[in-house]
Amino acid sequence: MDLMEYQAKELFAKHDVPGAPGIVATTPEEARAAAEQLGVCVVKAQVQAGGRGKAGGVKLAKTPDEAHEHATAILGMQIKGLTVHRVLIAPAATIEEEYYFSFLLDRSNRSYLCIASIEGGVEIEEVAATNPDAVKQIPIDAGTGVDEAKAREIVTEVGFPAALTEQAVTTVLALWKTFVSEDATLVEVNPLARLAGDKLEALDGKVSLDDNADFRHEDHAAFEDKDAADPLEAKAKAKGLNYVKLDGQVGIIGNGAGLVMSTLDVVAYAGEAHGNVKPANFLDIGGGASAQVMADGLDVILGDEQVKSVFVNVFGGITSCDAVANGIKGALELLGDNATKPLVVRLDGNNVDEGRAILDELNHPLVTQVDTMDGAADKAAELANG
Ligand code: GDP
Ligand code: MN
Repeated sequence: MDLMEYQAKELFAKHDVPGAPGIVATTPEEARAAAEQLGVCVVKAQVQAGGRGKAGGVKLAKTPDEAHEHATAILGMQIKGLTVHRVLIAPAATIEEEYYFSFLLDRSNRSYLCIASIEGGVEIEEVAATNPDAVKQIPIDAGTGVDEAKAREIVTEVGFPAALTEQAVTTVLALWKTFVSEDATLVEVNPLARLAGDKLEALDGKVSLDDNADFRHEDHAAFEDKDAADPLEAKAKAKGLNYVKLDGQVGIIGNGAGLVMSTLDVVAYAGEAHGNVKPANFLDIGGGASAQVMADGLDVILGDEQVKSVFVNVFGGITSCDAVANGIKGALELLGDNATKPLVVRLDGNNVDEGRAILDELNHPLVTQVDTMDGAADKAAELANG
């Protein structure tokens, strides 16, 4: 999960990263009230995307009226396809220098990495492209992490000015604490700014949390952006389903992530001959294809207005085909009149004959069985195009 700036700053505050958390506003009036408290301030669009400054989503306000005016312009604005629903009102700081600092999970080296530069700010991508030596990459041993000695090494390597050394060491340690104790895969600050009076502060924050660690962090659920979540994905999540909404017309249900991924490919390919229909979703119902799980999956997929047909592609393993067939039968009973779109079912693997016999006997008007994956994909695509 990617956090917005104001959420990242909540975590920064919790772990003593220097910087002001600011005040969140969802209306221009709230922005004015916040500015009355803070004085000269910046009005900042809150979306899960960078480059807000360049997109006109960060504006300085000298007076509460100006904060109201900027909030009016920024709220509702689109940045990289995302609608701005809230702004952060942060006390304006006099910036003398802007640095870039991040910790991230380095998957290719199975370790952690610090990327930092004293030439930070909104042009960091440009700096990385034209002057890569100005951007330091410092590997971090996953076993030992960042202790004070390592933090000093980082600060020296990055080249923070001497006047900021001690603050930089403390800040690096606080950011590392944020990274580790929140189970983040990315903690990024750009700009980490040198303010008037040689104060080092995080003026922006970007944090990505590892969803696999959600069970350790009850408080992280509150960060979920209900406005941005796709309603079908939210419904699937509530039912514990592994579902990703895509943009096509053929609903997909399969067991096993690998099988579902290849089903998407086969359907996209088959769709080329049928008006270019495409897969409508990824849905892996995993091992136990019970009637309830099948019904939940179908319920979510049938709720997608774009879906015209559904392809159920199951390879019987530990859960055998007869159990899956009974799951489909039970799901159709559970859904009753809510089952409205044709289902193409391809069963193979363990107890395939028993499974197919159950569906033959059911003789449901919406269900077509096809023996091969390619054949079933073609049928599902044809029905979606009809
Ligand atoms: P981003 O463009 O999405 O990364 O948003 P930032 O929060 O990094 O803001 C973009 C730029 O706006 C920063 O690089 C700063 O130059 C400027 N900025 C952000 N916050 C402040 C602030 O409190 N005071 C001043 N003067 N400038 C700010
Ligand atoms: Mn930034």
